[in-house]
Amino acid sequence: MKCRICGQKAVIKLRQHNLALCEEHFDEFFLKRVKKAIKEYRLFGQSDKLLIAVSGGKDSLSLWDALVRLGYHVDGLHIDLGIGEYSIRSRKITEEFAMEHKFRLIIVEAEDFLEGYTVPKASQRLRRSPCSLCGLLKRYVMNRVGVEKGYDVLVTGHNLDDESATLLGNLLTWQEEYLRRQYPVLESTHENLLRKVKPLIYLTEREVAAYAVLRSIKYVEEECPLSRGATSLEYKSALNQLEVHHPGTKHRFLHTFLQRRPFGSAKSLQLLSCSECGYPTTSKVCSMCRTKVRLKESSHEIRTS
Ligand SMILES: [Zn+2]
Ligand SMILES: [Zn+2]
Repeated sequence: MKCRICGQKAVIKLRQHNLALCEEHFDEFFLKRVKKAIKEYRLFGQSDKLLIAVSGGKDSLSLWDALVRLGYHVDGLHIDLGIGEYSIRSRKITEEFAMEHKFRLIIVEAEDFLEGYTVPKASQRLRRSPCSLCGLLKRYVMNRVGVEKGYDVLVTGHNLDDESATLLGNLLTWQEEYLRRQYPVLESTHENLLRKVKPLIYLTEREVAAYAVLRSIKYVEEECPLSRGATSLEYKSALNQLEVHHPGTKHRFLHTFLQRRPFGSAKSLQLLSCSECGYPTTSKVCSMCRTKVRLKESSHEIRTS
């Protein structure tokens, strides 16, 4: 197998592009795909202050590395969720990566936002699924920390596989509002809301993993232990099965949707400011602040019963 560009030994074959590439030309391909997303969707400019959410997985670390190589100013934000060994390892790997590359990393602990509870403990107390609580916490904390520290844009490492699986899930359940909001850039519509962007939408999970390996990026390989059996993983595997016989399926599925936007774009919701914390909400008090109140009540019940 030879690189289509230079004829040297290829290190990866990309069936959906009918392309084999050597190390050097795969690297070039990867950076080009990131640039393509930034340019096509006008995600951000060179003068923007970017904050990237880094979990310690391959997507966020690879994207951080690539954006800095492309000359952007990007700092990292890691949320320690308190999910046992998994979180300990994720935090350590993220800290080591930042230290080695001399990148600025902000670390936040879930306990500081959940009345002293970790994600698994809070989810038990509230009898609420850990994934839904974790999603709420991440959205809130990333935005709040970014706004407080003066960043313009929040960057996440969602790749082509993540986004096409989300699209499939939203279509199967006809979540029209989610379908309108599924886009590589969401503009800020409130003074305390960051613009949100996804520069990895042109790269598959496998391509991102290959980039991480070629760049010697150490990352956490396992999925979150609490997400085992999540339907999003089933959607991913269904799409990968289609991809085996029909290379390019995921890419066409997602990008035709993004070009056509058959459900229209997100309605600009009239966002209010939460009466407790001042961050955007559609009701009087935001869901994070309501969750905090319920946690406080639940620990009170335990003490008094
Ligand atoms: Zn080559
Ligand atoms: Zn609030």
